[in-house]
This record gives sequence, structure tokens and C-alpha cells, in this order.
Amino acid sequence: MRNSYVSDVLAKVRERDPNQPEFLQAVEEVLDSLGGLLEKHPEYQQHQILDRVVEPERLVQFRVPWLDDTNTVQVNRGFRIQFNSAIGPYKGGLRFHPSVNLSILKFLAFEQVFKNSLTGQPIGGGKGGCDFDPKGKSDHEVMRFCQSFMTELSKHIGADTDVPAGDIGVGGREIGFLFGQYKRLRNEFVGILTGKPLDFGGSLVRTEATGYGSVFFACEMLNAKSQNISGKRCLVSGSGNVSQYTCEKLMQLGAAPISVSDSSGWVHIKDGMTADILEELKQLKNVRRGRIHELAEKFKGVDYHDTVRDADHNPLWAQTADCAFPSATQNEINAKDAKNLIAGGVKVISEGANMPSSPEAINTFLDAKIMFGPGKAANAGGVATSALEMAQNSARLAWSFDEVENRLKTIMKNIHTAAFEASKVYSWEGNYVDGANIAGFKKIADSMIAQGVV
Ligand code: NDP
Repeated sequence: MRNSYVSDVLAKVRERDPNQPEFLQAVEEVLDSLGGLLEKHPEYQQHQILDRVVEPERLVQFRVPWLDDTNTVQVNRGFRIQFNSAIGPYKGGLRFHPSVNLSILKFLAFEQVFKNSLTGQPIGGGKGGCDFDPKGKSDHEVMRFCQSFMTELSKHIGADTDVPAGDIGVGGREIGFLFGQYKRLRNEFVGILTGKPLDFGGSLVRTEATGYGSVFFACEMLNAKSQNISGKRCLVSGSGNVSQYTCEKLMQLGAAPISVSDSSGWVHIKDGMTADILEELKQLKNVRRGRIHELAEKFKGVDYHDTVRDADHNPLWAQTADCAFPSATQNEINAKDAKNLIAGGVKVISEGANMPSSPEAINTFLDAKIMFGPGKAANAGGVATSALEMAQNSARLAWSFDEVENRLKTIMKNIHTAAFEASKVYSWEGNYVDGANIAGFKKIADSMIAQGVV
């Protein structure tokens, strides 16, 4: 039965923001994990922590006007959501995608608060972005757009206030243009963005961190059951930053990625990805900015399938495999996909993307007691390495690849331990959804109480 304080707060959120389905989904998922904790800690209700934690501290929406290559004015809508700064400056990515709206960014910012807390680093939670679509735009158009976006954003961020990073549609190219404009406007060379290219303050391993971290988290879940990832066949979705480096780390550890996808379709790589296929994928997506079907045209044993709009399931998740790494976008696995994954033999799921599994899918995984690593824990390696980039920028140092990767590995191990231990105390052993939510929430709640009503 749902805790009565949780029910009250959820009802208020639903009443206040009825048109924000993704935000409501994320809030419900976190709050529903907290029943056991709230019973043992009545002070959280006494201080009305839930009422406060579901409300962003600050939210900025702004116009982003820019000129396209035909000198026509284009107007997009930009946002920055500064959700919670109880444990550090706001930190979280920027997403450039036509689907971006307040509901999606609020869900991402809310998730980010608990994820950042779980990393053990001093970073608060935020998120931002724009309904701009970088696909099909020239580099000059992307640059002019980024300059306009940063002209407003620069008024709200700062190295000790709010430090954005990349997300969908925001990679090294966009971060470079955004950083350049900030420096020009403020005449300051400071770490106000992470995910920067290496030549001007970026950290080694930041590009790889989310994908590598998601694989490390899967390894930790397997390790807790005395198993390992070597030899496992793995379904991977997406073909962007997270997907590419998930595939890379899986291959390094002797596992076989057998799929990747984009919004147009997916490819099945029957015998597992090779180094040549991965290299071509990086060229295709990061340099030529092409579509995933081109991979099947180049390699034997790679079959392409179009995305079927409005289908009731995604056939990518119906292939026989041992592990799954959803690494594209939110709600990409529905209840039917979840059943197909289990029927196909999948025993380990590590969410590289944010909220890729619907609530029904998550319940299916938990009921089946398979190893399920929620995004909040499994993909926290990206933001954790961003915090390492901030630390290097502040100290004007650059650590080696091995040093950063070892720190990332340790952070993912610690996140696993925190979620696993919390699951044992407040839920059932191995329920990483409850464990991650509780471990992340507790530090935020205690810090909010200590700081008074602010
Ligand atoms: P990229 O833009 O590099 O890649 C996104 C991939 O997902 C592309 O292959 C894209 O295909 C696909 N995709 C996006 N939207 C959809 C959609 N509606 N339907 C199907 N496919 C879609 O983004 P990232 O790899 O950085 O991000 C992927 C996920 O990981 C997101 O959920 C993000 O929030 C999460 N994440 C990212 C972190 C990071 O460090 N980058 C950190 C933590 C989480 P197409 O090109 O056709 O749009």
C-alpha cells in the first residue's frame, strides 16, 4: 500500500502539473520507493521534504532567435531548470531535440538530483535544453544557434552556480560553440561547461564515461551474483554517445553487442560487433552524421529493419540475448518489450538512457527478479566524470586516461554498493530501483533539513 504522505504529495503534483506526463512518471517512480524510509524517518514528513523536493528551485524559459543559412529568422524555445542545490552547484546536461518541452526537462532534472547525490560528489541537480533539431543543420547554423542560446544562458550559469554538460543532440561540437560564446561574453576562461574538448579543459574519459559506466554497473550487478560479463550477448539501442561507448567497453570485456539503432531503424549484428563495425559507427554518427541503415549496407551479417511507427513493441528487444543496454531515449521499452526481453533470455538490464523503461516494464523486471540497474544508478558515470572534469579545471590539472577511468570504476562500484545496501535495509535485496532512490534521496533530504527552509 502506498504511504499516505507520498499519496498526498503525488496528488498535489498531479493537480499542479497535469500536463507534464514525463515529470509525473519520474516523481511517482522516486516517491513510490520511499515508503519504507519515510516510516523509519518521520522527520522527513515533519520538514515537508517531499513537498519541497518536487518543486524546482528555479526555472528559466527563453527565446532563442537565430539566422539560418538562407538568412531567414528561426525562433526556438530554450530552458534551464535549476532543480536542487542542497549538496552542490546545479549540474546536468543540455538536450537539443525537437521533442524538448518543460515536462521532459523537469523529469530529467528531477532524476538528476538523486543521480548526482548517488555519485557521492558535491553536485546539485539541473537540466536544460531547447526544441532545436541539430539534424540536417550545417555547422554554421549550429554555431549561430549555440551562440544565441548561450547569450541568454550565460546570465544563469557559473562555475560555482550551475555547470551544464551535453545530452541528446549536444556533443563536443555544440559544447565547443557554447563555451566559445560564454568566454567571449564574459571574458572569463572558467569551467562553466563539462564535456569540453581536451584542448581546452576537457577531461579524458568524459566522452566514454556514461557508456563505460553503464557496463561497469552491469559488471557489479553480475559480480554480486558471482557471474561476469565475458561471453554475454548484449542488446544495445541508440547509436549516439552512450550507445557507442557501451559497445566499446562490452567488446573490451569480451562481451558481444548484437544491435544498435537510431530513430529511423535498428540493425541486428548476428555474430556480434567487431572493431571495424564500431569504428564505422563512430564515423557514421559523429563525423558524417548519417543514418544507421548505412551500417548494414557496408557489412555482411548486419541486417537493417525500419522502425515501425505506432507498433505495439520494438523487435530489437525481442532478440535472444543475455543482457540489454537501452541507450537511446525515455520510454523506449514498454510492458510488451519487457516481456519479450525476459522471454528472450535477458537476465541483466543496465539503463544507459534516462528512464528508458516504462513503469509497467520496470514492474515486469522487478517481478521477474532479474538484475535491473535503473538509469539513475547505471548511467551516473557521465555526470560523475563531469564532476571530475570540474575538479581538474579548478585545480588546473589534467589527469591521465587510466587515472580517470579507475576513478570512474570506483565510483560505479560505490554507487552499486550504496543502492544494494539500501535495498537490503528498506526494500528487498537486489531491488536497485528502491535502493538507488533511497540512497540518493537520503543525502538530499538530510542536507535540506540542515539548511533550513530555503
Ligand atoms: P546522442 O544524441 O548522442 O544519441 C541519442 C541516440 O538515441 C541517437 O541514436 C538517436 O537517434 C536516438 N534517439 C533519440 N531520440 C530518439 C527517439 N525518440 N526514438 C528513437 N531513438 C531516439 O545522445 P546520448 O547518447 O548522449 O544520450 C542517450 C540517452 O542517454 C539519453 O536518454 C540521455 O539523456 C542519456 N544520458 C546521456 C548522458 C551523456 O553523458 N551523454 C549521461 C546520462 C544519460 P537519432 O539520431 O535518429 O535521433
